[in-house]
Amino acid sequence: MKIKVDATKCIGAGLCVVAAPEVFSQNEDDGLVIVLQESPPPHLHEACREAARLCPALVISFDE
Ligand code: SF4
Repeated sequence: MKIKVDATKCIGAGLCVVAAPEVFSQNEDDGLVIVLQESPPPHLHEACREAARLCPALVISFDE
């Protein structure tokens, strides 16, 4: 799995961080998403899918 985010469309809602804190963080200044692991290990994949589902701006996608 390779994570892709379009940070230009992120609205800083932070739900991705709640769903998968090992994979997503937020910039302290503007709140925009930061990807901590672009290729997360298998045990984090479901949390990444949940983050993509929860993201209100629909900016998280991935190659499986
Ligand atoms: S959930 Fe979506 S909009 Fe919110 S911080 Fe994460 S990527 Fe940005």
